Amino acid sequence: MNDTRSLLVFSAHAADFVWRAGGAIALYASRGYRVRILCLSYGARGESQGAWKEPGMTLDRAKQIRRAESERAAGLLGADVRFFDAGDYPLRSSDALIEALVQEYRTVRPDIVLTHAYNDPYNPDHPAANRISLETRVYAQAEGYPLPGPALGAPPVFMFEPHQPEQCDFKPDVLLDVTSGWERKRQAMESMEAQKHLVEYYSDLSRRRGTQAVRNSGKKGITYAEAYQRVFPQVTGELA
Ligand SMILES: [Zn+2]
Repeated sequence: MNDTRSLLVFSAHAADFVWRAGGAIALYASRGYRVRILCLSYGARGESQGAWKEPGMTLDRAKQIRRAESERAAGLLGADVRFFDAGDYPLRSSDALIEALVQEYRTVRPDIVLTHAYNDPYNPDHPAANRISLETRVYAQAEGYPLPGPALGAPPVFMFEPHQPEQCDFKPDVLLDVTSGWERKRQAMESMEAQKHLVEYYSDLSRRRGTQAVRNSGKKGITYAEAYQRVFPQVTGELA
C-alpha cells in the first residue's frame, strides 16, 4: 500500500501551472508529496507568442518547445508532468481524454487538487480545463464508472488565480504562504523562455499576496503567497 500523499494539478497549457501554482507545487514537493501535473495541451497556438516570433515556426515545433520548457519547469519544482496534447484554441474534451483523466484520479488518489478558475473571458481554454477537471473528479467518485481502481474519495479542490482575477469573478478565500518554495518558483518561471515577460508580473503578484497574507494572519514571516479559491466547503471540527 502506497501511503505517499499526493497533489494533482490540472494545467490547460504548458506553463499555466508555473505562474499560478508554482509556489504550491514547490512547497508540497518539498514536504514529500508526490506532485503530478496534467497538462491538457501545449498552448502552442494561444500561449507561445515568443516561439512564434522565430522565423519558420510550425505548430509541431512550437509544441516541442513548450513541452521541453514545461518538463524543465516541472522538474525544477519537484513534480512530474504528463501531456495529453488535446489541443488549444480550442481545448476540447473527448471520451478518450475523460477516461484518461478519471484513471489519473483513481491511480494518483490525490489528497489535494489544483485547477483553473470557473471563468476567464481572455482564454476559453482555462474554464474548459476547470470543467474537465471537476467533471472527471465526479466520475472518478462513481462506483459504477468502469475503470480499474477503487472509487475516489473527496479530495478538496482549489482554483488558482487567473491572470486578471476581477474579470474572472475570482475572489480568493485562501492565501497560501509559499515563501519557502519561492526560490524554486522563481527559477521555474525564469526557465519559461517563451513567456519571459510574465516573470516580474507574477513576482509582484506573489509579493502583494504575501503582504495580504500577513495582514490576514499577523504572521510577519510571510513574504510570498499564492491566492486560491475553494470549490467545495472546508470540512472541519475546528473553526480557525
Ligand atoms: Zn493558459
